[in-house]
Amino acid sequence: MNQPLAHADALMWITPRPDLLFTQGAGSWLTDHQGKRYLDFVQGWAVNCLGHGHPAIVEALTRQAGQLLNPSPAFYNAPSLQLAANLSRHAGLERVFFANTGAEANEGAIKLARKWGRKYRNGAHEIITFENGFHGRSLATMSASGKPGWDKLFAPQVPGFPKARLNDLDSVAALINERTVAIMLEPIQGEGGVLPAEREFLQLLRQITEDRGLLLILDEVQTGMGRTGTLFAHEQAGIRPDIMTLGKGIGGGVPLSALLAREAVCCFEAGDQGGTYNGNPLMTAVGVAVLDTLTAPGFLEQVQARGEYLARGLQALARDTGQVGERGQGLLRALILADDRGPALVEAARSRSPEGLLLNAPRPHLLRFMPALNVSEAEIDLMLAWLKELLESKA
Ligand SMILES: *Cc1c(COP(=O)(O)O)cnc(C)c1O
Repeated sequence: MNQPLAHADALMWITPRPDLLFTQGAGSWLTDHQGKRYLDFVQGWAVNCLGHGHPAIVEALTRQAGQLLNPSPAFYNAPSLQLAANLSRHAGLERVFFANTGAEANEGAIKLARKWGRKYRNGAHEIITFENGFHGRSLATMSASGKPGWDKLFAPQVPGFPKARLNDLDSVAALINERTVAIMLEPIQGEGGVLPAEREFLQLLRQITEDRGLLLILDEVQTGMGRTGTLFAHEQAGIRPDIMTLGKGIGGGVPLSALLAREAVCCFEAGDQGGTYNGNPLMTAVGVAVLDTLTAPGFLEQVQARGEYLARGLQALARDTGQVGERGQGLLRALILADDRGPALVEAARSRSPEGLLLNAPRPHLLRFMPALNVSEAEIDLMLAWLKELLESKA
């Protein structure tokens, strides 16, 4: 490949990208067009939960591709029935709707809550969401998000998403009125900077929604599928939502997402909801393989152990290099920096040689770690050693 990026201009510009092209992935490692290897602690933004090229995913894809790609969403197919049953059983939520992206699953959750409000709550339609929350890039999910500046970006917004403050129950209670139908949040605000909803706050939200006859919607697109050490993050608060969305890890790298709900909430009528690719067997076959792998004996215990190992390593790193500290749950963690070097560190980590390191800085003073759930201790050690060098250098 002499000019691997010759056609880069053919892509619509949406974001700056480095001049490199990844050609191969295996486990926690990516290789670029020049043969340079990179240790990947981003994994497609917490998407590749089993790392690159996991044999269970490759096997499911190739087997299903040879059998049946897509009979149309108007007909049943075996992998989607299997995955729906498995997810439903693990989540304790009776019904599953499949989609392709996290935003689409959240759109479905918003539609379901509004429909339920129209049918059972006198047309109540407001969904209380949170400052710094992130729910996707469609118009409604951008409106539900609390990212600073997004209220003006593609104005006018979709109305009906008043914003409360995370871990501040009074700010939630102040917004509840006869138009309120639901409260929607991430158990840990991922894009917001790995900011956890406190266990007690989640329990109080469950209580208040039950008392007031409202729905609790949890966006587990980033926190679900084992990322925080349990299959779903809300298990750690001992609560169960009425509606939950899943994305990212559920497909292990392929486009798959899901909307789960209690049976009593499911009120879509024919024509209300759908989508060309929804529940197609190629993607749901991968979902079955991913979920089987995550729920195999010992897997989630290992995620917890690796999460604690990474946490201890980051704490030591913070101490040794004068950073503020670390936080997170399982293998969704952040290092809080003493200054705004985040973007520069991401750049320097990727550029280091002979091997690069892929990191993410959702905020200038923060590095976020989303390695494969099967990352090894040796890979964590390597990442920490390289990051220490970078933090100690003047760059
Ligand atoms: C990534 C993310 C989304 C959006 O998912 P897409 O697949 O990019 O549409 C929604 N909610 C949360 C919490 C996310 O982390």
